[in-house]
Amino acid sequence: MARRVREKKSPASEAGAALAKIARNAMDCRDCDLWAHATRTVFGEGEPNARLMFIGEQPGDKEDLAGHPFVGPAGKLFDRALAEAGIDRAQVYVTNAVKHFSNIQRGKVRIHKKPNATEVAACRRWLDQEIATIRPPMIVCLGATAAQALLGAKFRVSKQRGEFIESELAPLVTATMHPSSILRARDDESRHLQMRQFVDDLKKIAARMRRIDGEQFSQFRSQDLDHRRFAVSLQ
Ligand code: SF4
Repeated sequence: MARRVREKKSPASEAGAALAKIARNAMDCRDCDLWAHATRTVFGEGEPNARLMFIGEQPGDKEDLAGHPFVGPAGKLFDRALAEAGIDRAQVYVTNAVKHFSNIQRGKVRIHKKPNATEVAACRRWLDQEIATIRPPMIVCLGATAAQALLGAKFRVSKQRGEFIESELAPLVTATMHPSSILRARDDESRHLQMRQFVDDLKKIAARMRRIDGEQFSQFRSQDLDHRRFAVSLQ
């Protein structure tokens, strides 16, 4: 009789399966009112074993329709900026602080509406589960909503972007602008300048990531190294 060979799951596939289960659970979430004005829950996507997690504000109109994060105009700009900074999007995980599209209807058009603190707090349980499952050594908040949700209401992206902030969430936590703010720049000159600044921030993030060697990463992921010791080992 043929012996059954039991396939050993890699940590990445275990994390992938866990994320898929959390995403399925989030599909029926009604913990705040945003679901009623959106098409679907848009959960995070990317590499389950990522060293780098990006957290934005919420899905936009295109993301809501497609069911995937960062696929609209801001997502395309984000892809360009990542490529310029030498970061492979396939190797990172991207998600949002809020999983439903917050909007107001104006005629046939749905206009983005910033989620309020109650909605962000209600959705936090999904984000916390993503972070706990992936356990990324570095988290980058994109824009004020994600930064203030994770780094405190007093955090100002305009003044503190690029600073690494001590946090329980990960050894290295920082923030930069949201790519959608570049699209809203008042003219081409400011758009170009903001894009350059955004790419520069991403290049610094990539450089910091490169300082994490394979052994440190394995130790951290196997929970042998706590956040603080890991952050100190990178200095
Ligand atoms: S926005 Fe978040 S908390 Fe609110 S219904 Fe959607 S998944 Fe649930």
